[in-house]
Amino acid sequence: VMYDKIDVSSVLRDILPIINNQAVLHNVTIQYQSVYQLPKVVADRELLKQVFINLCKNGIEAMVEGGTLTIIEKVDYRERKVIVDIQDAGPGIPAFLIDKIFDPFFTTKDNGTGLGLSVCQRIIHDIGGNIRVSSKGYGTTFTVGMPFSPS
Ligand code: ADP
Ligand code: MG
Repeated sequence: VMYDKIDVSSVLRDILPIINNQAVLHNVTIQYQSVYQLPKVVADRELLKQVFINLCKNGIEAMVEGGTLTIIEKVDYRERKVIVDIQDAGPGIPAFLIDKIFDPFFTTKDNGTGLGLSVCQRIIHDIGGNIRVSSKGYGTTFTVGMPFSPS
């Protein structure tokens, strides 16, 4: 693990080609809204890539009939956090499962490992951030919050 001051926009730009390759195979369009001069976060660049690739992959896989995956960067100046929303238009996550999805090995997929979200959560917790999920019957949004690096 190598911590550095990271521009999350540049991480997302780096993984966009990978995500796009996956997306076209699933009839999914990627929408990406970036923020000019996002404050930096302290993180391991490769681990952050892994987090966003995992979350995007889940969103793409959830849209079995295609659709749009939306990635939105935001800044919460009050909480001093960089926020990334990853939003899909899939079927959503039933309320009775929502507390289970971060458990290691929990999967509803035939070929799933169930490790993606637990690994994402550990990586983000390790940098003092959090991952929230919101899903209300239709579509799912994962929200990743990462503290600004001390200036
Ligand atoms: P895997 O993708 O291998 O199943 P994950 O840890 O990435 O493992 O996800 C665990 C489970 O959480 C998935 O099997 C699925 O049931 C649910 N899940 C995760 N992301 C989404 C999403 N965007 N839409 C619907 N369900 C999701
Ligand atoms: Mg996964």
